[in-house]
Amino acid sequence: MGKFRCDCGEMISTSNGIPNPAEWLLVADATVPDSAWDGTVLWPEIYEKATRAYKCPSCARLFVYWDGLDATWTQYDPAHPQGGLGSATTTE
Ligand SMILES: [Zn+2]
Repeated sequence: MGKFRCDCGEMISTSNGIPNPAEWLLVADATVPDSAWDGTVLWPEIYEKATRAYKCPSCARLFVYWDGLDATWTQYDPAHPQGGLGSATTTE
Protein backbone atom coordinates (compact mmCIF):
# COMPACT_ATOMS: atom_id res chain seq x y z
CA MET A 1 0.00 0.00 0.00
CA GLY A 2 1.10 3.54 -0.35
CA LYS A 3 0.09 6.87 -1.62
CA PHE A 4 -0.02 8.78 -4.84
CA ARG A 5 -0.40 12.36 -5.97
CA CYS A 6 -3.54 13.43 -7.78
CA ASP A 7 -3.11 15.65 -10.83
CA CYS A 8 -4.45 18.54 -8.72
CA GLY A 9 -1.54 18.09 -6.29
CA GLU A 10 -3.41 16.42 -3.43
CA MET A 11 -1.70 13.39 -1.85
CA ILE A 12 -4.01 10.39 -1.51
CA SER A 13 -3.12 7.52 0.79
CA THR A 14 -4.30 3.96 0.18
CA SER A 15 -3.32 3.03 3.73
CA ASN A 16 -4.77 5.81 5.85
CA GLY A 17 -6.30 3.60 8.54
CA ILE A 18 -9.70 1.96 8.73
CA PRO A 19 -11.91 3.56 7.77
CA ASN A 20 -9.89 5.43 5.20
CA PRO A 21 -11.74 8.69 4.48
CA ALA A 22 -10.58 8.68 0.83
CA GLU A 23 -11.46 5.03 0.15
CA TRP A 24 -14.66 3.89 -1.52
CA LEU A 25 -15.76 0.33 -2.14
CA LEU A 26 -17.39 -0.75 -5.40
CA VAL A 27 -19.35 -3.97 -5.26
CA ALA A 28 -20.40 -5.67 -8.46
CA ASP A 29 -24.03 -6.66 -8.25
CA ALA A 30 -23.16 -10.16 -9.50
CA THR A 31 -20.81 -10.73 -6.55
CA VAL A 32 -23.36 -9.99 -3.83
CA PRO A 33 -24.13 -13.35 -2.21
CA ASP A 34 -27.73 -14.53 -2.11
CA SER A 35 -27.57 -14.50 1.69
CA ALA A 36 -27.28 -10.72 1.60
CA TRP A 37 -30.84 -10.52 0.28
CA ASP A 38 -32.45 -12.45 3.11
CA GLY A 39 -31.42 -9.94 5.73
CA THR A 40 -28.07 -11.48 6.55
CA VAL A 41 -25.32 -9.13 5.49
CA LEU A 42 -21.95 -10.82 5.45
CA TRP A 43 -19.85 -7.71 5.40
CA PRO A 44 -16.43 -9.47 5.47
CA GLU A 45 -17.42 -11.50 2.40
CA ILE A 46 -18.60 -8.41 0.52
CA TYR A 47 -15.59 -6.38 1.70
CA GLU A 48 -13.17 -8.96 0.28
CA LYS A 49 -14.89 -8.86 -3.13
CA ALA A 50 -15.09 -5.08 -3.32
CA THR A 51 -13.06 -3.04 -5.78
CA ARG A 52 -11.14 -0.24 -4.08
CA ALA A 53 -11.51 3.30 -5.29
CA TYR A 54 -10.08 6.55 -3.93
CA LYS A 55 -11.75 9.90 -4.35
CA CYS A 56 -9.61 12.99 -4.25
CA PRO A 57 -11.02 15.25 -1.50
CA SER A 58 -9.89 18.31 -3.40
CA CYS A 59 -11.01 17.83 -7.02
CA ALA A 60 -13.26 14.72 -6.82
CA ARG A 61 -11.25 12.68 -9.33
CA LEU A 62 -11.86 8.99 -8.75
CA PHE A 63 -9.07 6.41 -8.94
CA VAL A 64 -10.35 2.87 -9.32
CA TYR A 65 -8.17 -0.21 -8.78
CA TRP A 66 -10.15 -2.55 -11.03
CA ASP A 67 -7.47 -5.27 -10.85
CA GLY A 68 -6.51 -4.93 -7.17
CA LEU A 69 -4.26 -2.64 -5.20
CA ASP A 70 -1.10 -4.22 -6.61
CA ALA A 71 -2.11 -3.25 -10.14
CA THR A 72 -2.57 0.14 -11.74
CA TRP A 73 -5.54 2.42 -11.21
CA THR A 74 -7.83 4.03 -13.75
CA GLN A 75 -8.58 7.69 -13.23
CA TYR A 76 -12.01 9.26 -13.77
CA ASP A 77 -12.23 13.01 -13.84
CA PRO A 78 -15.61 14.71 -13.33
CA ALA A 79 -14.31 17.54 -15.52
CA HIS A 80 -13.92 15.01 -18.36
CA PRO A 81 -16.80 12.56 -17.89
CA GLN A 82 -16.32 10.81 -21.24
CA GLY A 83 -13.96 8.18 -19.86
CA GLY A 84 -10.88 7.25 -17.90
CA LEU A 85 -7.81 9.41 -18.21
CA GLY A 86 -5.04 6.88 -17.91
CA SER A 87 -3.44 4.82 -15.21
CA ALA A 88 -0.37 4.65 -13.03
CA THR A 89 1.08 2.63 -10.20
CA THR A 90 0.88 3.39 -6.51
CA THR A 91 4.07 4.76 -5.02
CA GLU A 92 5.39 4.68 -1.49
ZN1 LIG B 1 -7.36 15.94 -6.98
